[in-house]
Amino acid sequence: MAASANFAAARVASNRVEYDAERRPTLIPCVAQSASQLQMRRSLLLLLLFVLASATLNLPVALQMQRARQAPQSPPLINESGALAAARGWPAATPHTTPWPTPSVWQSLGNAGYERVNVYATTTPADGTPGQFNMQVERMGWPLPALERVQMWWPWDDPAWTTSAYSDPPLRLAWPGALLNPLLIGTALWIVFVLPVQGFCAVRRRLRARYACCRHCGYPCGTNDVCSECGKPFAEPARDS
Ligand SMILES: [Zn+2]
Repeated sequence: MAASANFAAARVASNRVEYDAERRPTLIPCVAQSASQLQMRRSLLLLLLFVLASATLNLPVALQMQRARQAPQSPPLINESGALAAARGWPAATPHTTPWPTPSVWQSLGNAGYERVNVYATTTPADGTPGQFNMQVERMGWPLPALERVQMWWPWDDPAWTTSAYSDPPLRLAWPGALLNPLLIGTALWIVFVLPVQGFCAVRRRLRARYACCRHCGYPCGTNDVCSECGKPFAEPARDS
């Protein structure tokens, strides 16, 4: 027990040196910079991993959110008609070369991760038979829509509106959410889980450098090139004795 204590005391004595204020400007910046670069690389790697993980989950989560379409319909959050509906226009491209008539009703409902837009228009041709146009667009994903489904109805029997386009095209990507969701979520996770730790380590590293201690374990720097406590090398030869 006594021998162990004596050994520890001797090691401290051999490792500790008088703090030389004149060495601080040359030693400490190198130590801090090396550790900072290492931590920066780790930090960027974690950011990349968070973004990749978010990208992997982006579309499956969006697919899961389309289950909301089976839920009972709630009243529209937006329900506009007349000039307001006309100003909003159709929520997706119409399938004909001839433009669809101006929307007369524009409705939107949904919640976080799921949005449904229904837009209606009516024509009154010369023969007096009104033509009904309807477009329903569903957007799924969070925080931005990553998937989009469009369904359309138009006067099928009217030769003026004949087209080979699909009225119910397949589910498609909504590019803003498909591309930006991984960046937004990955960065948010990085800010919550990595940034505080990085800040704490940076402060601790600066304090250890200020007091001439090993940046890895906090043990006082000695005259060696490696720390006698943890064995890690200092960023530069410890110092001239
Ligand atoms: Zn150490």
